[in-house]
Amino acid sequence: MSVKFSAYDPYDFANRRHIGPSPSEIAAMLDTVGAASLDALIDDTVPGAIRQKAPLAWGKPMSEREVLDHLRQTARQNKVMVSLLGQGYHGTIMPPVIQRTILENPAWYTAYTPYQPEISQGRLEALINYQTMVADLTGLDIANASLLDEATAAAEAMAMAHRVSKSKSTTFFVDRACHRQTIDVIRTRAEPLGWSLVVGDPFADLDPASVFGAVLQYPGTNGHVHDFTDVIAGLHAAQAIAIVAADPLALTLLKSPGEMGADIAVGTTQRFGVPVGYGGPHAAYMAVRDAWKRSMPGRLVGVTVDARGNRAYRLALQTREQHIRREKATSNICTAQVLLAVIASMYAVFHGPEGLRAIAGRVHMKASRLASGLKTLGFAVEPEAFFDTITVAVGERQNAIIGAALGEGINLRRVGDDRIGITVDELTRQANLEAVWRAFGGTLHYDSTDGAEPAIPEALARTTPFLEHPIFHMNRAETEMTRYIRRLSDKDLALDRAMIPLGSCTMKLNATAEMLAISWPEYADIHPFAPADQALGYKLMIDDLSDKLCQVTGYDSISMQPNSGAQGEYAGLLTIRAWHLARGDTQRTVCLIPTSAHGTNPASAQMAGMTVVPVGTRPNGDVDLDDFRAKAETHSARLAACMITYPSTHGVFEETATEVCRITHEHGGQVYLDGANLNALVGIARPGDIGADVSHLNLHKTFCIPHGGGGPGMGPIGVKAHLAPFLPGHFATDGRPGAVSAAPYGSASILPISWAYCLMMGGEGLTQATKIAILNANYIAVRLKDAYDVLYTSASGRVAHECILDTRPLAESAGVSVDDIAKRLIDCGFHAPTMSWPVAGTLMIEPTESESKGEIDRFCSAMLAIRAEAQAIEDGHMDPLNNPLRNAPHTVEDLVGAWDRPYDRETGCFPPGSFRTTKYFAPVNRVDNVYGDRNLVCSCPPMSDYAEAAE
Ligand SMILES: *Cc1c(COP(=O)(O)O)cnc(C)c1O
Repeated sequence: MSVKFSAYDPYDFANRRHIGPSPSEIAAMLDTVGAASLDALIDDTVPGAIRQKAPLAWGKPMSEREVLDHLRQTARQNKVMVSLLGQGYHGTIMPPVIQRTILENPAWYTAYTPYQPEISQGRLEALINYQTMVADLTGLDIANASLLDEATAAAEAMAMAHRVSKSKSTTFFVDRACHRQTIDVIRTRAEPLGWSLVVGDPFADLDPASVFGAVLQYPGTNGHVHDFTDVIAGLHAAQAIAIVAADPLALTLLKSPGEMGADIAVGTTQRFGVPVGYGGPHAAYMAVRDAWKRSMPGRLVGVTVDARGNRAYRLALQTREQHIRREKATSNICTAQVLLAVIASMYAVFHGPEGLRAIAGRVHMKASRLASGLKTLGFAVEPEAFFDTITVAVGERQNAIIGAALGEGINLRRVGDDRIGITVDELTRQANLEAVWRAFGGTLHYDSTDGAEPAIPEALARTTPFLEHPIFHMNRAETEMTRYIRRLSDKDLALDRAMIPLGSCTMKLNATAEMLAISWPEYADIHPFAPADQALGYKLMIDDLSDKLCQVTGYDSISMQPNSGAQGEYAGLLTIRAWHLARGDTQRTVCLIPTSAHGTNPASAQMAGMTVVPVGTRPNGDVDLDDFRAKAETHSARLAACMITYPSTHGVFEETATEVCRITHEHGGQVYLDGANLNALVGIARPGDIGADVSHLNLHKTFCIPHGGGGPGMGPIGVKAHLAPFLPGHFATDGRPGAVSAAPYGSASILPISWAYCLMMGGEGLTQATKIAILNANYIAVRLKDAYDVLYTSASGRVAHECILDTRPLAESAGVSVDDIAKRLIDCGFHAPTMSWPVAGTLMIEPTESESKGEIDRFCSAMLAIRAEAQAIEDGHMDPLNNPLRNAPHTVEDLVGAWDRPYDRETGCFPPGSFRTTKYFAPVNRVDNVYGDRNLVCSCPPMSDYAEAAE
């Protein structure tokens, strides 16, 4: 008898990782939805006219081992040097405890944006630490929970200054000492809004009466530290707003912007433990005076109370302001940089104020020694007062010295054609300084600079304390740190515990193999402005990924610059705008946007200088074609673009999409297709074929970059060939729009995740994922359709990759709100679906391909049990005011405290779906939103509160 070997491949990635349902589960689910096969279901769901003709073909899928080898080989083509290039990007040490327990921990990186505060208390606490840290360091009253990068934060600050300034001017002043990319991004932002810029020396060229605001860099890009107190007073006298772009590490030693009178401070917290990563991701910050807090862009975490009156955190004020204010929104920020803000905040918790000052002091003294050595060697060194950056006059020898430094493995910066800039950081070693001196032609020993003096003038030295809160003074034993981080993540519900069925957000698996490469130094430690030949691996990856994304979308060219979906929208609209302008169509500024669009669409259009004309939506969720046609005709001469989402935000493959494209083109406009729903299209239909001209792709939705609790993201845009010359540039001189992000390839260091996904799935695997995503959504729709109304199905009765359940009837019949259902799902061990978007009072569910039948069934049981509870209220068997839905979520407090409810503890705490032994208990009861906004507190509450709070 011979041994029989199985043909089954245990390493087959597509089957074993990303596709949740097993083959037998797929068969059972097809049965439930009444489809003969997966292909029959897709034929039934996706209109034939838009189906992709040729399958995605890019060779055999790679196994995990193969892809890791491939990523390693590619990594080897990146050359990790000691980059003393500065300009807002610095070497830093990520404490290993933070790397292992946050960056590489799915409990942190797979979490969603904290819109459901009860299951987000851990990351909300980390973010409030972050806000406290930023407010303290900048000397301002209130800070937000992160922005995308320093340059876009400065542009946001300019826009905010314009909103709040009483000056009538439309001119903005930019310190010429701002980092070059900051000036570039500000220029891009100002131009379509009709604002003019004056770039100059704030001490010589600034006329406060002629500007609505000014941004000053501190320290300047070439190292200068100035006291801006008088400049700011001058601005204030003229009703103009003062913005300071400041390095937070420098602020531990320097007088804060707040003490100088600044209204707004912005900057990046990259050097608080987040590797440079060829430009990102890192968390930018913004802090403002209390008076401006309601005008601040981005998300803000605030303190409030829960139903028991215990302290709880939540997103405050403008949480989803784009959705409410749309084209009047103050900014389009949606995905920000939560994971990086968490890391930066933990760096501050880990080191405390003492540690941060010590790190800054060492950095400063290294810079001082460096300057002293160079002076010994006979060089003129600027400036007198500096923190970490100096500029050396080298005359004709610039090339020779930079070349010699390269030979030592060190990157130095060209400043003009006769100077060299050098910035030292936390990583700079004695040997590096000695190598720099050698490159400048001298042999000096580190010890010979022992006499170097600090170069921070007395008047600029920081005298005010910071990070006084006890959280920054906890015992620094790694034991304590590990447990603090663990305690916070245990409070939260992320993908590592349960399905997160968030419509439009595509919370799919972030496979471990995809995540590994981002920690490798060859990706993490490349400076974005390093010479191109040191980033050949990045180039290879970016080219190949771009090529694959072109094949997926049917576009001809990709820009990797936008670092979020909303930034992609903005970049895409700027591209359309530049195309119109190049054709002399300066009048084309109208953008048609269906009322069902995501709030970032109108906000981005407004930022791109366009006038938003809303288009109606038919009762079935489709774009109202008659209204669309009429508005296109009315605005024909001025039509710039339309923005549509496909499949629609209602989760349906509209039959009308090609017609919308045709009408837009007929009237001379361009079609922006919001690609957030690409998970329903990959491999079966392409935006480019449908007739769109440009789209963004949310790599943090469709292509497996984790959400990180609200960022990072990547929102590259694809365009048709005619738009390619008008994609955003970076330090561009060829007439294309300027930069939209600080770094040329946005948050480049997370691209290996999406690349690995594409390589491991292959074209066939990606197509299979799309089909299963559609199957999973249809399965849920069928299983729940007798209990809830499924809104919006196609003519054939199918949904796309998500489905919307109408819960409004339950409000009528049982007084059960959509909120009650969302919170009751927490008791069942789930994160709620997207709530009240795109339609108020509904839940939008997107299971993605990654969820197995078992998990989806668990979710369906929970939803059915919730319906049964509502039924019990309707039937008079349950108290309409005191019931498990109203009282959800139930906490351990409920379980052990006095119990006076008309239902038992078991019913309250262990509804269907919940696990018995590994039950997820929300750490707080239902959070009071109104209280938090009325009593706005956005920094760490006093420690006495911590002791009382239930841990
Ligand atoms: C997520 C989303 C966006 C915005 O993307 P961000 O990356 O969060 O900026 C835009 N449109 C739709 C339909 C989305 O779902």
